[in-house]
Amino acid sequence: MSKNKDLLSFRFDFEGLSECPLCGGEVMIPNGRVEWLTMDFWYVACPQCGLKYMNPRPTQESYKTFYKDYFWQQKVRNIGFFQKGQMWDLDGYTWDTDKKTDKEKGKDNKQKKLKALRFEPVSSALLKYKKLKKGSDILEVGTSFPVTLNELHKQYGVKTYAIEPSEEARLEIKKHKYISLIGRYAEDLEKLSQKKQKFDAIIFSHSLENTVIPFDIMAWAKKSLKKGGIIYVQCSNLITYDQMNPYHPYIFSSAPFSLLAKKLKMKLKQLSSPKDRMLTVIFEK
Ligand SMILES: [Zn+2]
Repeated sequence: MSKNKDLLSFRFDFEGLSECPLCGGEVMIPNGRVEWLTMDFWYVACPQCGLKYMNPRPTQESYKTFYKDYFWQQKVRNIGFFQKGQMWDLDGYTWDTDKKTDKEKGKDNKQKKLKALRFEPVSSALLKYKKLKKGSDILEVGTSFPVTLNELHKQYGVKTYAIEPSEEARLEIKKHKYISLIGRYAEDLEKLSQKKQKFDAIIFSHSLENTVIPFDIMAWAKKSLKKGGIIYVQCSNLITYDQMNPYHPYIFSSAPFSLLAKKLKMKLKQLSSPKDRMLTVIFEK
């Protein structure tokens, strides 16, 4: 119980931005706000590139602490942020927070949900562009309880690598011998990109929008790919799922991703349709 109390008294440190992190535009249109615990999270939209971002936002360091010690810990205990009314055409969706569940039950529910929500879209997208086989090297950034990597390994025999900040999720990942835990934060890609080990695919399934410097991270991810490698990104689609919450310094849509692809000199393939709540894309090297 005392641990829950700790979770509820958590506070971020905040910093303010004077320009758009993607295009450098200085005009910001106020674009929504949420509150959680005793904190405000305000958003702006950039009229130049269409990026929606939190401003002011938690610092990189305070997010690191949050993801290490609090994020999955609070999610699986059903005390995380929750707000109705953000999702277009909401029907038949089970929220983690509908019922109070204990930690183990919460973890179990979460794994089932992650498997349903993440593995199918990831594997079908990867298979469109890559032959998944023994010797394929697949990295997932924000692995959480390693449902996707687990299934990819079981079904295709691929080599799996994980980057995951949460202590609670890392304990779960370490139980799987065939997953190499090679980093804690997405920012670790900077160092990893200088290594010999390269990947056929890098997966960001609901994790890129949770980072403070996603555009640097994508550049390092590109460097970490083998020739012809791909980056899979799935996140909420601003147009149909304006998922403002304390974990999302960014809410993406098609236009900012097109600009990002141009900047990275990568090919962008959009797999989702404009009315899908999830924006699913492939960046191809
Ligand atoms: Zn912009």
